[in-house]
Order: sequence, then C-alpha cells, then structure tokens
Amino acid sequence: MKPFIDRCRQAGLKVTPQRMAIYNVLMSSTDHPSADWIYRKITDTWPTISFDTVNRTLLTFAEIGVIDMVESYSLSRRFDPCVGNHHHFHCIRCGQIIDFCDATLDNVPLPTHLGNDFTVTGTRVVISGVCSECAEQKAS
Ligand SMILES: [Zn+2]
Ligand SMILES: [Zn+2]
Repeated sequence: MKPFIDRCRQAGLKVTPQRMAIYNVLMSSTDHPSADWIYRKITDTWPTISFDTVNRTLLTFAEIGVIDMVESYSLSRRFDPCVGNHHHFHCIRCGQIIDFCDATLDNVPLPTHLGNDFTVTGTRVVISGVCSECAEQKAS
C-alpha cells in the first residue's frame, strides 16, 4: 500500500478511502478485471459510488502508473494491478488473461525505427491461444 500512497501523493492525487478501496479491489483480483467488474465488486462496500467515478479513478491510476491498462479483445478496457515487467497469455475463447514472466521477452530487441519515431516506455509480449480449461471443455 505504501508505494501506492507515495506515488499518488507524488502525482498530486489525494488518497481518499474510496480510491484506496478501488485500488484494493483491483489488487485482490488475479484476472485483469474490467472497470465494470471492479464497479460491481466495490458497490458491496460503497453502494453509492457511480460507475463513472470508478472508471475515471482507474484511468487516473493508469495515467500515474500505479496500475496498468491491458490490451483486450473485448470492448471493455481491462486493468492490471501489476506494473512490473510481465507478459500476457490471452485465451481467445474465454478472454482470460494470464500473467507470466520471462527475462528473454523482457529484453526483446525493438525494430530500430520504433525507437526513432516513439519514446518506448515498456515492452509486453502478448501470446494468444486457448487456455487449458477451454481446451478441456472442447475435448469433453
Ligand atoms: Zn480459456
Ligand atoms: Zn498482467
């Protein structure tokens, strides 16, 4: 919690109980949830919070780098509590996004023109396929 609070303060963002609660819900999830899912979860403890507030808070968190946004096949944005180096496996059937770490992928060489045209701030490799649960369902 401390790095989160420090980073918010640094960015001039007030650490309100509501913001802490939103962050906590995301931290306790393992499946890169959407704003919608986080909203439904948070209303257990904050019944009066609006979806817009949750969504805007998540976007602000992503902007200041305390959470990450995830590339997604679905229309809804998904969020990632883990901002460290890691990569994603996307299941094309159930939409599940699974984290994995790989030092070789962390240092994947970039096409040189990318470095000329853009300032690169991170590299994430996304592998798509069918997860083991979905593969099993198909088989049975
Ligand atoms: Zn799957
Ligand atoms: Zn992730």
